[in-house]
Amino acid sequence: MPVFDLHCHSTASDGVLPPELLVARAHEQGVDVLALTDHDETSGLAAAAERARELGIELVNGVEISITWGGQTVHIVGLRVDTRHPGLLGGLAANRQGRADRALLMAEALAGAGIDGALEGAYRFASNKGLIGRTHFARFLVEEGHVKDVKTVFKKYLVKGKPGFVHHEWASLQQAVEWIHAAGGLAVLAHPGRYSMGKEKLRLLMAEFRDLGGEAIEVATGSHTPDQVPLFAAYAREYGLLASVGSDFHAPGEGGRELGRRLELPADCRPVWHNW
Ligand code: AMP
Ligand code: MN
Ligand code: MN
Ligand code: MN
Repeated sequence: MPVFDLHCHSTASDGVLPPELLVARAHEQGVDVLALTDHDETSGLAAAAERARELGIELVNGVEISITWGGQTVHIVGLRVDTRHPGLLGGLAANRQGRADRALLMAEALAGAGIDGALEGAYRFASNKGLIGRTHFARFLVEEGHVKDVKTVFKKYLVKGKPGFVHHEWASLQQAVEWIHAAGGLAVLAHPGRYSMGKEKLRLLMAEFRDLGGEAIEVATGSHTPDQVPLFAAYAREYGLLASVGSDFHAPGEGGRELGRRLELPADCRPVWHNW
């Protein structure tokens, strides 16, 4: 059985490995089919595809789009997208501009909490200056010695209710699904078990996503606990959605899951790649 890993990040967004090294690492880890899914960005895909051809691993063009739904941030992965589609490119560019605007406000908020220089500091950690995110701020705060690791920075500074958190209105669920479909791709609700919403709201999200034509939800992901895997497999069946898998790998040694690890789907799932 080939190993699929359909969610990970490079330096084009908030990962730490350049696309070509990410692909090489996936190959070493035994991944056969890899989707690179950078946040709101597709610029890493060309270099990833070239390295994948050299190594004989299959590269899927992916992206992870930030949306706002029900007042909360949710992530929608697009798989097998045409990265030249103007509708998709325009939408992603708007989200990236939103990230730049939010970064200014985050730096102001952190300055108010006594942390100066966060804007320049975060951008130093962003290889792609056109794509700034909370993880870049987190790495800066760790470097400054404010907090011991990235996970703790999020908990203490960067989530709702904490001093560096800034609400942002991303694209809508409908827009993200439309952009992905216009670009010929499949829409996947990313790590559904990670959102802090109750069961009823989560059900509304899955139903609306399905009604908008969304194809799949992530079942086996680095963001799910072991008992969430069968739970979301059951939701996928109930809502008539396909099942996807992805490590959500960002960086060696930052605490996330390694590429290609523990991504087996329960036997009764229909994989998102069933007809690839
Ligand atoms: P952003 O899209 O810029 O708001 O940042 C979201 C990213 O922050 C996610 O893709 C993760 O890489 C990272 N992240 C979110 N929450 C946490 C957390 N609790 N610990 C570590 N990283 C996190
Ligand atoms: Mn990320
Ligand atoms: Mn995500
Ligand atoms: Mn991700």
